[in-house]
Amino acid sequence: MKYIFITGGVVSSLGKGIAAASIGLLLKQRGLRVALQKFDPYLNVDPGTMSPFQHGEVFVTDDGGETDLDLGHYERFLDQNLTRDHSVTAGKVYQAVIERERSGGYLGKTVQVVPHVTDEIKTRVKAIGARGDIDVVITEIGGTTGDIEGLPFLEACRQMRHEEGADNCLFIHLVLVPYIKAAKEIKTKPTQHSVKGLLEIGIQPDILLCRTEVPLGPEIRAKIALFCNVREPAVIEARDVASIYHVPLHFHREGLDDIIVKLLHIEAGEPDLEEWERMIQRMTAIEEGVRIAVVGKYVQIQDAYKSIIEAFTHAGVQNDVQVAVQWVDAEDVEKLGADEALRGVAGILVPGGFGERGIVGKLEAIRYARENEIPFLGICLGLQCAVIEFARDVCGIKDALSSEFSPNCANPVIDLMEGQTHGGKKGGTMRLGAYPCQIKPGTLAADLYGASEIRERHRHRWEVNNEYRDVLERNGLTFSGTSPDGSLVEIVEIADHPYFIASQFHPELRSRPHRPHPLFFGLVRAAKAQRNSHSPSARQVSA
Ligand code: GLN
Repeated sequence: MKYIFITGGVVSSLGKGIAAASIGLLLKQRGLRVALQKFDPYLNVDPGTMSPFQHGEVFVTDDGGETDLDLGHYERFLDQNLTRDHSVTAGKVYQAVIERERSGGYLGKTVQVVPHVTDEIKTRVKAIGARGDIDVVITEIGGTTGDIEGLPFLEACRQMRHEEGADNCLFIHLVLVPYIKAAKEIKTKPTQHSVKGLLEIGIQPDILLCRTEVPLGPEIRAKIALFCNVREPAVIEARDVASIYHVPLHFHREGLDDIIVKLLHIEAGEPDLEEWERMIQRMTAIEEGVRIAVVGKYVQIQDAYKSIIEAFTHAGVQNDVQVAVQWVDAEDVEKLGADEALRGVAGILVPGGFGERGIVGKLEAIRYARENEIPFLGICLGLQCAVIEFARDVCGIKDALSSEFSPNCANPVIDLMEGQTHGGKKGGTMRLGAYPCQIKPGTLAADLYGASEIRERHRHRWEVNNEYRDVLERNGLTFSGTSPDGSLVEIVEIADHPYFIASQFHPELRSRPHRPHPLFFGLVRAAKAQRNSHSPSARQVSA
């Protein structure tokens, strides 16, 4: 088994997740069986209880794991489904250690960070490799070197190299190499300091990925190699590129996968990047643009909608349009009115969310889409709002609401199901992960999916209240997807509309570069078809 550990230094947000995913893709395309894993040094057991403002999106795996958003990049780049075990937080590690201590599992020993916490971390790295046929385990360590809480993880990586041998363990360190405009100079000192920080804890990086705005000339590469004690070909330029999908190709041109297989003594041929290259060519050739509004609560933090952004990219490429997302704060729709806040958009998406803030604006945006025949996709809370809006404005149930916002409301068209109270506990009490959904023949959903049974990922507590299904249906809302026993509503749509569909699950989590999600594909296609002659070009919408 071969192990690659990816760390980051100097500053955060350098794109370690994309780097890890790109390395995974390159090795996979060289014929290797790769598993990607993320360690997060924070103490939450999983990111499920964190606000999107803190953490960005919570990515949900098929098995219901609430994981770091980097797992989304891993799944999309490798086109592989991962599980909750591929995302490990310090909270999860400490929880396991403490539980073992309470049950007497340490046989009277003093329980310590070294060796007990580090052993637990190593066990989790090895467990990923031991699952099925894996050649290389790639583990990304969240945070930045120098963080106190990251130390046990780095120490565990150091021990892994000591135990498994240098031929089997590789350290890749991602750093920022800033360009100082006033001096017109590229600075290597932060990189030197960051590597020094790693050396202090016994880790000598083998490869440096250098994030930079400008090309790194041979002199700078030589200088970094000398001061950081790595070979020159192992100084890899990670220059800013047009999109995250360009990163693997850029890394390949820099020789990154060659040096990895060389240092790990792996026999593997050249990577097959043809399909990926075709996608990039198609992406680059796009000339048309289409503007789609996302009306949400966390619009200032676009990381909160990471998978939605990527799903739009995938659907855009297949439709040969560039989707320009217009981020609209739901509260602005309430303040300015839908006419003003949503003028000129070719499609509207209302994403998932929690809590009452912004609901009025979301309902308003949905009414606007429904009445003006603007293509609409609602996701999770977006479906719940679409049902509330339909109940109020079409069925005349003026006070229809979700009991999430008002527990004793008179007409909870969205409600908790029987036995769903969980004694007030929040962590891990939602309907999580993949559930089957049966699709009604002859509906838009059936047409989009081209299948009668699908599986999609969930993350919510509330459901459509079955007591209102009759009245909603009689007034023209179609329940085009339900759980196989019919008890849970999964997809709703309106037939008499160019494109109005909403899902209780999160379609964005299953969109892949070569396989856009049907619901996103349909939205982008409908938006493209609908644009009026004044619609902007790709260049204008991306400005
Ligand atoms: N807040 C809603 C629920 O818990 C919707 C959740 C979501 O959109 N992910 O059911």
